[in-house]
Amino acid sequence: MSKIQMTTPLVEMDGDEMTRILWKMIKDELLLPFIDLKTEYYDLGLENRNKTDDKVTVDSANATLKYGVAVKCATITPNGARMKEYNLKEMWKSPNGTIRAILDGTVFRAPILVKGIVPYVKNWVKPITIARHAYGDVYKNTEIKVPGAGKAELVFTAADGSETRELIHEFDGAGILQGIHNTEKSIRSFAKACFSYALDTRQDLWFSTKDTISKKYDHTFKDIFQEIYDTEYKEKFEEAGITYFYTLIDDAVARVIRSEGGFIWACKNYDGDVMSDMVATAYGDLSMMTSVLVSPNGVYEYEAAHGTVQRHYYKYLKGEETSTNSIATIFAWTGALKKRGELDNNQELVEFGDKLERACIKTVEDGKMTKSLSLISTCENPVILDSLGFIRAIRETFEAM
Ligand code: NAP
Ligand code: MG
Repeated sequence: MSKIQMTTPLVEMDGDEMTRILWKMIKDELLLPFIDLKTEYYDLGLENRNKTDDKVTVDSANATLKYGVAVKCATITPNGARMKEYNLKEMWKSPNGTIRAILDGTVFRAPILVKGIVPYVKNWVKPITIARHAYGDVYKNTEIKVPGAGKAELVFTAADGSETRELIHEFDGAGILQGIHNTEKSIRSFAKACFSYALDTRQDLWFSTKDTISKKYDHTFKDIFQEIYDTEYKEKFEEAGITYFYTLIDDAVARVIRSEGGFIWACKNYDGDVMSDMVATAYGDLSMMTSVLVSPNGVYEYEAAHGTVQRHYYKYLKGEETSTNSIATIFAWTGALKKRGELDNNQELVEFGDKLERACIKTVEDGKMTKSLSLISTCENPVILDSLGFIRAIRETFEAM
């Protein structure tokens, strides 16, 4: 059998720990035997980020702007413990934060539904897609550890030199400070991405913020969404028989739990980070969710929504058996390959991606799965496989299809 050819390379961003191990297994077992894989490789593993002063992360984002499609492995966001563990020169920023700041856009996360895996929330019979704004707020913040008494002010100096000042707080002792921002341009593109995705997939769109407390910051998000809806999407939504619905974030949380699913929930950056883990876990586990960043420049970055699965990695290093679910990382690859195929008119590549996704789902529905899935599967006698065993089982299903 001849291998599928590619014309344009994918931007490949390798990562850390257990997901880095899975990354290689997926390439060796599921991709390289079938595709003449063309990638431009960037090693975003923490060691190399440290070696390159994190330049590699910026380079990989710029390559994504150039080629249009990237696939990213999960990466460590360093904290104090990681500084010691990896002997870091600096506490490098979150690679996802850096990449999203360069690409801008919205992250869409949708659960991968599989028969036999019943959501923890019994009334969720349809998927809930989280649309997470991928620019700004706490992910592009400036912080100060206030050492002692003093006055904190928010100062904006306009291009003409005039200043606007707001008192933040008169400190009478030590404390902390944080400055965050967003841009109207980014919020507009976030809104448009959500409205068009809702129309494309014919699902209602919900949006929630905390505008009652944040009367300027969050309220601006609410106003921009409403304005774009009224002027550009209202009629189209009515024609499609779908609705746009705004509510406070806490009310949204309560309604989401009572709903039957089947809608898109647009969230600000931090809300989307937190809520997507909740939704993913309730539908199965963190590895049963697709995640794609859609940038207003028309570029796509596919990734898994979960982290580097550190606990499993330490077991792996000790030679112990691990049963890590690779589905989200496989779907990152298939999503990227299918998009590359679509852009390059490469039907074979699109079909390959579709078939590999069906093979993943069929393998689980046939009762072969990882430990985390077996805990929530209604399958009577699931066969629990280790990390590599599960990938090999998917390959067998794929080859039999
Ligand atoms: P995590 O990697 O998401 O894993 C947390 C726990 O969730 C695991 O210990 C495991 O539970 C379960 N889990 C997650 N993914 C799984 C999978 N594929 N298969 C089976 N179980 C899975 O989060 P973490 O261990 O707290 O974070 C590790 C590193 O990931 C951190 O350094 C963080 O900065 C980074 N991170 C990166 C990204 C990203 O690059 N997109 C996102 C989040 C976090 P059990 O141990 O109970 O089996
Ligand atoms: Mg997260």
